[in-house]
Amino acid sequence: MTLLPSQIIEVAVPLPIERTFHYLVPSRLSEATAPGKRVLVPFGNRRLTAYVLAIVETADTTKLKEILDVLDDEELWTKKELEFFRWIASYYMHPLGEVLRTALPAGINLQTRKSQGNEDELSGGRSVRHETWFRAGNGTEPQRTLGTKAAALLEFLRQDGVNSAAELRRRFGQCTPQLKRLEELGLVEREQREVYRDPFRNEASVRDIPRVLNQHQQTAFVQISSSLDRHEFSPFLLHGVTGSGKTEVYLQAIAHALEQGRNALVLVPEISLTPQLVYRFRARFGGGIAILHSGLSDGERYDEWRRIRRGLVRIVIGARSAIFAPLEQIGIIVVDEEHEASFKQADNLRYNARDLALVRGQLEGTTVVLGSATPLVTTLYAVEQGRLGLLELPTRAGGSRLPVVETIAMQGIKSTISPQLHQSLVETVAEGGQAIIFLNRRGFATFLVCGECSQPLTCPNCSVTLTYHRQRRQSVCHYCDYAVPAPGTCPSCGALELKELGAGTERVEHDLVELLPQARILRMDSDTTSGKGSHNRLLSRMADGSADILIGTQMITKGHDFPGVTLVGVISAEASLNMPDFRSSERTFQVLSQVFGRAGRGDAPGRVLLQALNPTHYAIQCAINHDGAGFYQQELEFRRETGYPPFAFLAAIGISGTSEQNVGQRSEVTTALLLQLKNKLKLRIEILGPAPAPLYRLRGRFRRQILLKAHSRNDLRRLITDWLSHRTPPAAIREMIDIDPVDM
Ligand code: ADP
Ligand code: ZN
Repeated sequence: MTLLPSQIIEVAVPLPIERTFHYLVPSRLSEATAPGKRVLVPFGNRRLTAYVLAIVETADTTKLKEILDVLDDEELWTKKELEFFRWIASYYMHPLGEVLRTALPAGINLQTRKSQGNEDELSGGRSVRHETWFRAGNGTEPQRTLGTKAAALLEFLRQDGVNSAAELRRRFGQCTPQLKRLEELGLVEREQREVYRDPFRNEASVRDIPRVLNQHQQTAFVQISSSLDRHEFSPFLLHGVTGSGKTEVYLQAIAHALEQGRNALVLVPEISLTPQLVYRFRARFGGGIAILHSGLSDGERYDEWRRIRRGLVRIVIGARSAIFAPLEQIGIIVVDEEHEASFKQADNLRYNARDLALVRGQLEGTTVVLGSATPLVTTLYAVEQGRLGLLELPTRAGGSRLPVVETIAMQGIKSTISPQLHQSLVETVAEGGQAIIFLNRRGFATFLVCGECSQPLTCPNCSVTLTYHRQRRQSVCHYCDYAVPAPGTCPSCGALELKELGAGTERVEHDLVELLPQARILRMDSDTTSGKGSHNRLLSRMADGSADILIGTQMITKGHDFPGVTLVGVISAEASLNMPDFRSSERTFQVLSQVFGRAGRGDAPGRVLLQALNPTHYAIQCAINHDGAGFYQQELEFRRETGYPPFAFLAAIGISGTSEQNVGQRSEVTTALLLQLKNKLKLRIEILGPAPAPLYRLRGRFRRQILLKAHSRNDLRRLITDWLSHRTPPAAIREMIDIDPVDM
């Protein structure tokens, strides 16, 4: 009898522990064990799911415990992917086990090998092998008359909805013969496989063919495709004004990667805001696309994840977490709207998917394309430094011109809509044009203020005022969803008279309905788009011309192309300038430029009316003049003077807890320790704070922060590493690290 030598493995556990651990693999499990799988391990006096990172050569085996079980049949991750996750853990100074847990779809955690035996019984039918029926893509109308049931089936499949064989039987009774006949006639198609639910599946796709690229697009495409041919890491900025045809360049570049047998990963700020982009991908490439977005249930997300892992997917489109998608053979990674703040995760593992796209691209030797009309100042700086290749699309693809922007001084004007904007709206609607009204604030009034004691209504859990929503008759906290009936009484003094202050989208809608009673007005913000598909419905009413005016928040600035829009009105140009954030000028320039870009995309020229109290700020002036280069120069100067990126590296340490006193004390202790260690290590780091976070109180927690600024990333890392090893574990307090924070 020969004894197999025991294996030793390195694992990460999903706990806030920086280090990894070693375990012995008993010989009965050694064949099933592999890096990238999960194993069950004894940990202290409990059992934990751990992630196998590597089989290690030698280690001191004397004190090692044995693993209890192997939980996966197949590896969850490849070696390359594990390398990527190790990089993330190290860079963001976050425990690797937690990084791995973050990277997995939530649905998988219910899943063990024990239940994987039978595909059809996976997690309560989460992924079931069954039949679905679709109307055939080119669906010619029937030549011969169909039976009543067949005709009804056909009509049903024409509409959106559930179309599984089970659902069809539920509605129509036994209908297999009719479906077979429709299939023979080429009117419907059947899909028989493990069905992964896909919310976009039922969207009828019109086949879309590649457009002939214009000169600028062609130059960009040639550079990208030749970098694909080299099979090495090549990062680009695709800097193209709104409507310049960036998406067309992505599509053709991706087609090139697919021809090479490689795959594509596309990151977008938020899928529900970019239905047109998803639609165009489907129309161009048909199947083999996975869409990852926040509206998916855990089960759906897991389904998509497995389709990708199994190689059934060639293109993954998703919001920031899609950067973790288990896609192999990646040829190209696209980050659309690379300047968007939503690529940064705001809690736990505070990664930035835009930055990670470059890291993953480097590890896997792919082409990376960052696309934007208004790139980050730091991105433009990287181009200047030669770290990114520059591809420019300076003109709109359809030949339309950027709109002319006129400023309207709002001093002394009481209404939300100035007389000039009112007049222009009347004219636009009369001429059959469409208008977009932009205001980055939802709700009716910003908040209610007591007429007696002048106290604004504030959230009891967060340090913000409550937003008054007239239709819902509530004052609502936009951070924690706390809500009270409104107008109501003053919680401070009980007085009945509450006054409205400020203006939100709901207020603007109210005023517009009064001013333009004939116009068909839509409002789009997170209040009107919470229902499933409501977003798309609003957009399609605008697109098919059954609405005249669309009022909205930042949501309306994203990726839509309404050729009928000739007028854009901005209610308050300064709304986003006064944020306590080193990027507030940059965000203002970006959002204004994006809003302006909605005007005049069709044949008729566009016009923008910008209402402002004081439009002298360079962010507003440069946006008005479509002067991206000028903005970049001035903003770069501002960053240089104040010592912010790209001239400094930032890290923040956040301290939060439910006791204000404890949070205050701990933040003093932490700051003192950081100062002491910095002096000991002789590091050149500026330590700022502790200061209250921009939102001092959030969901009942008090939050303070310490900002670290340095010229060397390495210095920052050394200080934080040293601090982690010296700090006492915080009790009842959370202390988190944010590398490259974005709202400081
Ligand atoms: P962006 O992504 O830069 O905003 P899009 O790719 O959405 O721009 O293109 C804007 C519009 O121009 C779309 O309607 C698109 O179909 C059209 N378009 C893009 N490229 C071309 C081209 N080469 N020829 C004609 N139309 C084009
Ligand atoms: Zn709140």
